[in-house]
Amino acid sequence: MRSASLLVIALAAACAKPAASPAPDASAAKGVLIVNARVIDGTGAPGRVTSVRISGDRIADIGDLRQRQGETIVVGTGLVLAPGFIDEHSHADAALFEHRDALADVSQGITTVIVGQDGSSVYPLADFFGHVQREPSTLNVASYVGHGTVRDLVLGKDYKRVATPAEVLKMQALVDQEMRAGALGLSSGLEYDPGIYSDPSEVLALAKTAGAQGGRYISHMRSEDFAFWKALDELITIGRENHMPVQVSHIKLAMKASWGLGDSLIHVLDRARASGVQVTADIYPYTYWHSGMSVLFPHRDFDNRASAAFALDQVAPSEGLILANYGPKPEYSGKTLHEVAQLMSVDDTTALMQLLHASEAAEASGDTAHADNAIIATSMDERDVAKLMSWQWAAFCTDGELDGKHPRGYGTFTRILGRYVREQHVLTLEDAIRKATSLAAANVGIKDRGQISVGRYADLVLFDPQTVIDRATPAEPHLVSTGIRRVWVNGAVVYDGERVTDARPGRVLKRVVTPVATK
Ligand SMILES: [Zn+2]
Repeated sequence: MRSASLLVIALAAACAKPAASPAPDASAAKGVLIVNARVIDGTGAPGRVTSVRISGDRIADIGDLRQRQGETIVVGTGLVLAPGFIDEHSHADAALFEHRDALADVSQGITTVIVGQDGSSVYPLADFFGHVQREPSTLNVASYVGHGTVRDLVLGKDYKRVATPAEVLKMQALVDQEMRAGALGLSSGLEYDPGIYSDPSEVLALAKTAGAQGGRYISHMRSEDFAFWKALDELITIGRENHMPVQVSHIKLAMKASWGLGDSLIHVLDRARASGVQVTADIYPYTYWHSGMSVLFPHRDFDNRASAAFALDQVAPSEGLILANYGPKPEYSGKTLHEVAQLMSVDDTTALMQLLHASEAAEASGDTAHADNAIIATSMDERDVAKLMSWQWAAFCTDGELDGKHPRGYGTFTRILGRYVREQHVLTLEDAIRKATSLAAANVGIKDRGQISVGRYADLVLFDPQTVIDRATPAEPHLVSTGIRRVWVNGAVVYDGERVTDARPGRVLKRVVTPVATK
């Protein structure tokens, strides 16, 4: 898209002495003045047309401002200026150094990613953070420490069991170490190996260690379908017992029998909050998820035909179940389960069992290159997605990778702004931005970002509210969104009209040490 309304000019009319057109680097050093944009500051307050000055890496001034000598003017007429979006649950850590431009993220307005999700973090975090500092990307990066990661370090291959008290102590020591390195808290992925084999008391104990340092607990819960309510109770109990903030990752009702229960879910969450548990959530705006096949079998009974049939009936109907990636037979990748079943000349249920069996066999024989499997499964209801997205304490996440197969990696925030704000009026623009910024920062404990106010870091996104929309689809998951005009991270332009710049100003954001609640 053209970016004519985003003229970076030395605005002669604004002051007596017109500045010469500066080179981008020089202009950054002399400051930037964004004029005439509708500034939506992230607090939920109504937007207002005003000017914002960036000086160095900070927001220096807001109001009716005059251009200073040498300052670059960005004209934002008709555009919205918002704080950069914070992705509450990101898998950008999977290929952060391969894709330092982070096109997938900055092109949808994301400036900060929260990684180390689903129980899996880079170990040790001190080394990871050092690497990010040496080879920064366009993004700010904060991380949780993963429960599965420390469980793997302590239990190794012998993980299909509950841990002993001595092993829990060892895991706690590792969590403590990673918290001291700057982790935001503990993440878990209790629907995945090895977390699925943990006793709730183990997770509670590890979360407590994180909480003792002011950390949080965030979880891909033990179930998102048939045992959802019990899983939610486990999360809320951790918040209550440990007096720590807890967050439901990518909240969803992913089973046909649960469809329409969005209100009930919000009621349970609100009741927990009313009782003093600081529970929050993040959500992505799609009715289909992306994960491994094994999550369809919560009891890991891959040979149980009834379990396979139940999964296809309730959780992942085969017409909407796409094999995003299938290592044992790459030629199946991109096809639906139903299509693959026809190629295999078996029924859908048998196909699912045989596909998973082949993948498991490859894994067991150490042939990890051919063990890979990933599916995109449609199992949420649109009304629940909209309802949960509207919950006051729900922020947004991509749950995406920088080069992943699910379109959420490229399209989450622009889809919310285009589809759910402009087209469907599920949220007001101000509220959507509040959720994407200040609420997101508060939920994960990031200071000095997520709002446009003087003194905060200049993480900013300038976009066209009339045209902003996602374009990525399951067939073409890497299509760049429309309408994001310019993105700044720590005062530097990282994205300029659908092009990533050469700037790599992203930083490591470590947990801010907060006093531990004593009650
Ligand atoms: Zn997850």
